[in-house]
Amino acid sequence: MSSLTKVLSLLAAASMTVSGAMNAAAPQHDPDGPLFLVNRQNMVSVAYEPDDLEMSDVPGQVRRMRPAAAAALREMFQACREETGCQLLSISGYRSYAKQEGIYRRKLRSVKGSVEKAQEYVAPPGASEHQTGLAMDIGQKNKIHLEVSFRDTVGGKWCRENCWRFGFIMRYNEGWEEITGYSYEPWHFRYVGREFAKLIHDADVPLETWLVDYRAEKLREIISYNPAPATPSDLE
Ligand SMILES: [Zn+2]
Repeated sequence: MSSLTKVLSLLAAASMTVSGAMNAAAPQHDPDGPLFLVNRQNMVSVAYEPDDLEMSDVPGQVRRMRPAAAAALREMFQACREETGCQLLSISGYRSYAKQEGIYRRKLRSVKGSVEKAQEYVAPPGASEHQTGLAMDIGQKNKIHLEVSFRDTVGGKWCRENCWRFGFIMRYNEGWEEITGYSYEPWHFRYVGREFAKLIHDADVPLETWLVDYRAEKLREIISYNPAPATPSDLE
C-alpha cells in the first residue's frame, strides 16, 4: 500500500461521520457501485455473487452479467455492427469463485504446484473482475480465443476506441501491468457506467490510478465543506 493510499484510507475512515461521505470517498469498496474494485489486492470472497445476473442478449457464450452491463453490452455490439459491419462475440462474462478456483487449480497442477508460476498466468480465485458480473471478454468471428492479436482486428480496434461511449473501459492496457497486476488483455472490458467511463477514458490511466485521484478530489470536497463562520454583524 502506498503512503498516499494509506492516508486516503485513513481520511476515508475518519470522514464516515459525514453523511454519504464514505461511499463518495471509497467507491471502490461498494459492491453495488459501478466503481467496485476487484484485483489481486482487493479480492472478493467465495460468498460474493451478484443476485441480479442476467443473460445478455448478444451472440456468443458465457453471457451472464449484471443488468446495466448486459444492456450496455448489447448496445455496444449493435453499434459496432452498424459502424463497421463487424459482429462482436461474447467469450466470457460472469465467472463464479468456484469456476475461478477450478481454473487456478488446473494451472497450478500444470506448473507442478509452483504458486509463483501459476500466478503469472492466472489470478487466484477471488481476484477476477469477472466475479462482479461487470466484465466481459470480447472476440469476433474467427477470433474467439483470447489473444493479443484481437487488438489488430476491426472489432478490437473499434472496441478500444468506442467502448467508453457505452460505459465500458479497457481494463488491462499495455504498460499498465505493474499497476493492474494483469498482462495486456485487449479483449477484457469492464462496465463502469457512461459517466465514469468517459472520465476514465479521457484520463487514460488504469482504474486503480484513477480511483486514487478521484478519491482525493472527493475528500478535498468533503474536507473543504465548512459553512461560513458567523461574522460579528450576524450576531448583532
Ligand atoms: Zn477477462
